[in-house]
Amino acid sequence: MKLNIKDTFSKELPSDSNQINSRRKVFEATHSYVKPKPPKDPKLVHTSNQILNEIGLDSPDINSDEFISIFSGAKVYPKTRPYAMAYAGHQFGNWAGQLGDGRAINLFEIEHNNKRWALQLKGAGETPYSRQGDGLAVLRSSVREYLCSEAMFYLGVPTTRALSLMLSGENVLRDMLYDGNADYEKGAIVSRVAPSFIRFGNFELFAARNDIKNLKKLTDYTIKYFYPELGKPSKETYIMFFREVANRTLKMIIHWQRVGFVHGVMNTDNMSILGLTIDYGPYGWLEGFDFGWTPNTTDKQNKRYRYGNQPNIGLWNLLQLANALYALVEEAEPFETILNQYQTDFEAKSLQMMRSKLGLEIQDENDAKLISDLEDCLLQWETDMTIFFRLLSNYKKGFSDKGVDIVYDAFYKPEDLKEAILKQWKVWFKKYDQRLHKEILSATDRKAKMNRINPKYVLRNYMAQLAIDEANKNKYDLINELFELLKKPYDEQPLNEKWFAKRPEWARHKVGCSMLSCSS
Ligand code: AMP
Ligand code: MG
Repeated sequence: MKLNIKDTFSKELPSDSNQINSRRKVFEATHSYVKPKPPKDPKLVHTSNQILNEIGLDSPDINSDEFISIFSGAKVYPKTRPYAMAYAGHQFGNWAGQLGDGRAINLFEIEHNNKRWALQLKGAGETPYSRQGDGLAVLRSSVREYLCSEAMFYLGVPTTRALSLMLSGENVLRDMLYDGNADYEKGAIVSRVAPSFIRFGNFELFAARNDIKNLKKLTDYTIKYFYPELGKPSKETYIMFFREVANRTLKMIIHWQRVGFVHGVMNTDNMSILGLTIDYGPYGWLEGFDFGWTPNTTDKQNKRYRYGNQPNIGLWNLLQLANALYALVEEAEPFETILNQYQTDFEAKSLQMMRSKLGLEIQDENDAKLISDLEDCLLQWETDMTIFFRLLSNYKKGFSDKGVDIVYDAFYKPEDLKEAILKQWKVWFKKYDQRLHKEILSATDRKAKMNRINPKYVLRNYMAQLAIDEANKNKYDLINELFELLKKPYDEQPLNEKWFAKRPEWARHKVGCSMLSCSS
């Protein structure tokens, strides 16, 4: 197994001089060297061939002992030195101080086909940043991260990737619902891949300590490797950098809104500086369309991270990043302008995204009203978001009376639908029909276009749970099946129609399907 190692983060930025793996506060360093904990009996469960090729490996490589050793943490790749990153963050709106990679260990960076990739293990043992945790991850949460991050990639949503899923051969104690009922679960390790895993929180850590020297080093490094088009470091560059991060963050969140993804724990330590979806924990997918929904039981009270609030939280998190970068610019106005622009852009991009979901090409001044009327309908009666938009592409212009029939399968308990609600839907379909008459696209073209925006298959919460239940019994066929299914989320897959279905009733209140905690 030959990798083109090109470490930059650990080589160019200051490391922690203390190399003992004890839990502590780390100052004036971006990372601490630490060795992964060799797992008892590592076993490969799945690999993503696409990312395998991206990093310059081939299918035969995964059968080597070396692959298992390196990506389970049993061995360290020659001439590399694993490390954990230091970062801080705001959790649920409150300053949390130093956090850091408590159970992620970066292995190395590689270059392949002019692309840079950082590889890290999640669940490979404790680090100086582990605080009260054990540094481990369980199979349940690892299957969820592994499947979802790859599914997001194929949906076209900016995301970190996953290379492999392994069992560690150890049992890990977890109190899944934080209710005092701890139990042992199988331990697992995911190897994650991204150009970089730097988060908003890495910048916040130095800013909070007024360590401007290292804040500048980290920012200059990030621009040099990941925003090189911005040029040499200067106040202007830092402002442009912030603008670009704001743009990418917004773009990512608009994608989330489009596909119905709810991250669940948008703390600033879970915000990538590259605008990638990162840290798949208590995330979930909208089934019934609901702005107020959050999968995260830890957030049940305030619902800070609910679906409809994600764009606002993106803005709030960017404000924390602006506060951190302020020290390099010492002027508030440019940041304020960018944050205001985010709000304007959000309105415009969100509208454009919704137009595309409805198959509308041209812009009409009444579109915002048409869309909010639709949202009103969707909120009146539990309606499956994915199924609704997918079926809507079958709508035939001039047949608004048939609208409800076309999307009927998207309604939960359709037999109980009240007359008044049906009437509201009929009114909406009339308006939609009138609006479609302003379009020039043929029905076939509209359908094809809509089906490239509205996925047919997403990783519904219960689907991941079924795969986890099987995996806990050492059966991995379903992981494989879902992985393949989600590689083509926009395609018709006649053999997979069973996954184009509403959430079954048994999953409505089941742990792991509708209720998730941060315990992982
Ligand atoms: P999260 O909410 O999963 O993004 O985690 C927040 C912080 O807790 C990060 O610093 C994680 O590294 C750390 N953390 C989460 N779970 C564990 C664990 N089992 N062991 C050590 N650190 C953890
Ligand atoms: Mg995290």
